[in-house]
Amino acid sequence: MNENLVIKLKPGREKSLLRKHPWIFSGAIDHFQGNPSIGETVKIESSTGEFLAWAAFSPESQITGRVWSWKQSIPMSPELLKDRIMESIDSRTGLINSGITNAFRLVNGESDGLPGLIVDQYADVLVVQILSAGSEYWKDEITQFLVEISGITQIYERSDVEVRKLEGLEPRVGILAGKEIPDQVEIFENGIKYLVGVKEGQKTGFYLDQRSNRLAIREYAKEKEVLDCFSFSGGFTLSAIKGGAKKVTSIDSSGNALKIIEQNLKINDFDPSIVELIEEDVFSQLRTFRDSRRSFDLIILDPPKFAPTKKQLEKATRGYKDINLLAFKLLNPGGTLFTFSCSGGMDTALFQKVVAGAALDAKVEAKIISRMGQDVDHPVSLSFPEGTYLKGLTCQIK
Ligand code: SAH
Repeated sequence: MNENLVIKLKPGREKSLLRKHPWIFSGAIDHFQGNPSIGETVKIESSTGEFLAWAAFSPESQITGRVWSWKQSIPMSPELLKDRIMESIDSRTGLINSGITNAFRLVNGESDGLPGLIVDQYADVLVVQILSAGSEYWKDEITQFLVEISGITQIYERSDVEVRKLEGLEPRVGILAGKEIPDQVEIFENGIKYLVGVKEGQKTGFYLDQRSNRLAIREYAKEKEVLDCFSFSGGFTLSAIKGGAKKVTSIDSSGNALKIIEQNLKINDFDPSIVELIEEDVFSQLRTFRDSRRSFDLIILDPPKFAPTKKQLEKATRGYKDINLLAFKLLNPGGTLFTFSCSGGMDTALFQKVVAGAALDAKVEAKIISRMGQDVDHPVSLSFPEGTYLKGLTCQIK
């Protein structure tokens, strides 16, 4: 640890750090002392020389520092890293021991005090995403501690995401620990089996964050005609069948995703004849349904991030409005819409406003019967509100 690597902030720019927000933006920096290299730990000081935090240095990013520690006496070290990983996994004991699933997010980045580190467990495989220069710097230690603490020996890296570019990091996928890792891993969740493509699937292979919402839709699915938009590998599709749906129509633009649904139906012994798989753009397929007067009792809208950041918000807002409006139009009287946004750039209030506008334009009377979010293994630190990304509304129409 080099005590002489310091980031000095401009006057008054220590405020967010005093509130324990873990990011140091480039605009807040007055000057550097020493010559830190990418990923190294630097001391953050206020303009008056007060100690604020130890942080990982990321020279290419607008987020130039990500805090590892708030205590001067506890700088970043392998011991601290190990403690954090241990705490993170320990805090999920309730879910891990619940027996309802063998797939969990073990580490959720900033909200678990480990900026830029995501670790998901799928049965006996861990999938790791390294999204920041600081986590990249400690990758070997992270791998070693994950094996030690979790007892899992197969670890695959899926750092093939756009945000790495912002940190000046190349994409990387490959084995971090273990010899051979299968392409697909079978997991279970609330009585349903799913195949997870750990090497090629989207995200780290499965949308763990939707677990509680998958369970919730079962209550609404009995004997219903269901439409699952942006179905991916069928998380909601299979849940609806488990809940007793009469028929489920699943739309995704990815043929691969639909193939996994077929496999998932098979391994669960679900009747494939009640499922219609449509490889299509949801925007155009909803219009096709509208024009042919198809209707549904329960519709799920779980699109990809239309607005990763605030910049894309305007276009994204139009996209959300469009699909929600069409979905409201396709609902039978008394029907239910499960609608989500996982855009970090769109907050809950705006999302509700967009859905309200869609109902109005679709000329339906709708009410919110429940609000949804990411499941318990995707916690949000109160000092890091950016950690809230998944928002969902269950709306019922007259
Ligand atoms: N509901 C899923 C996760 C959805 S992720 C689950 O619970 O597992 C978003 C999905 O939308 C991806 O599978 C992606 O292939 C698909 N997708 C993205 N844009 C699309 C579009 N315009 N039309 C149809 N599918 C789309």
